Amino acid sequence: MDAEARAIPPGTVVRVEDAGGEALGSAGFNPHSLIVARMLSSDPEAVIDEDFFRRRIEDAAALRARLFARPFYRLVHAEGDHLPGLVIDRFDDVFVCQPNTAAMDRLMPAVAGALDSLFAPRAVVVRGDSPVRALEGLGSETRLLSGTLDGPAPVMEGELRAFADVIAGQKTGWYFDQSENRAFVARLAPGARVLDLYSYAGGFALRAAAAGAIEAIAVDRSDSALDLGRRAAAENGLAERCRFVRAEAFAEMARLAREGARFDVVVADPPSFVKSRRALKPGLRGYRKLARMAAALVAPGGFLFIASCSHNVEPSAFADAVRQGLNDARRSGRILRASGAGPDHPQHPALPESAYLKALTLRLD
Ligand code: SAH
Repeated sequence: MDAEARAIPPGTVVRVEDAGGEALGSAGFNPHSLIVARMLSSDPEAVIDEDFFRRRIEDAAALRARLFARPFYRLVHAEGDHLPGLVIDRFDDVFVCQPNTAAMDRLMPAVAGALDSLFAPRAVVVRGDSPVRALEGLGSETRLLSGTLDGPAPVMEGELRAFADVIAGQKTGWYFDQSENRAFVARLAPGARVLDLYSYAGGFALRAAAAGAIEAIAVDRSDSALDLGRRAAAENGLAERCRFVRAEAFAEMARLAREGARFDVVVADPPSFVKSRRALKPGLRGYRKLARMAAALVAPGGFLFIASCSHNVEPSAFADAVRQGLNDARRSGRILRASGAGPDHPQHPALPESAYLKALTLRLD
């Protein structure tokens, strides 16, 4: 990069040309980021304004309208919706935006204007607290951009009415990426005893209980996440069959194993164990250990759902770690389903690592 390029302020929209001077399109530029330019349009003259965002978001919304009966989903999934650096989750009339690049940070007023004109939202929240923002030289800030909020936003998932703390909860307040996987696990749940490890607000446990689990135990180290789960359990008449336990997951697994506890369904959905490529080896050892300890708690004939949300872990490496963990636990089984995030998380074909979520559901012998 030459001095002239280095002097361009982070977040500027620039015209991109190849070495021969042929125009490639328009991009959000940041000379301080490892990824200096992210393509916004193949039109080198594109005006990136409210109207641009209205067209892109309208297109994303039309796709979701076809896929979902109700307005609870990821509305914009960055590159997957041709809006690199921008995530928007929709909770009916509450919209939660994550601007993760300098360009999107600068363009937030245009994004908000587009949301206003398309949806007349009750509230628009900006969650500028993702750690990836540091790579773009951006600080951390969360704010209510417009409208009002009177507590957590309701989320409808299946027959369940849950709650997302869109201001202080993790990420945007809800893990929409696991929604279809929660529906699949719920199919296994009638009459089952279910353990939901790394439960956050208890999404898996609650949906299992709503589907007829006789007992669902959610384990997480975050009190505030568990409180939202408790509230949803009460609201849905599931409080007697759900328990919310504050604990470190590995310690709780060890404790349950010592007690001889067994479950018909065990869910293990941890935070990323591999935050950088350098952390790959120890991270894979972590998934192997997780598979071993979680499998030990599955009753014969029961099910294990295990997931990794690490960008840096290939599906085959994750599957290997899980297989080794089962071996360590001296358990055999079959893979019923290999899955990822739902279709509201479209993947750019040129960015395989954008398919960050990998999940396996196994039936153990
Ligand atoms: N399964 C959830 C999403 C899980 S996100 C859902 O469907 O919504 C990962 C969760 O793991 C977070 O809620 C975080 O608080 C929790 N967590 C992180 N480290 C943990 C640990 N060592 N022990 C228990 N919980 C942990």
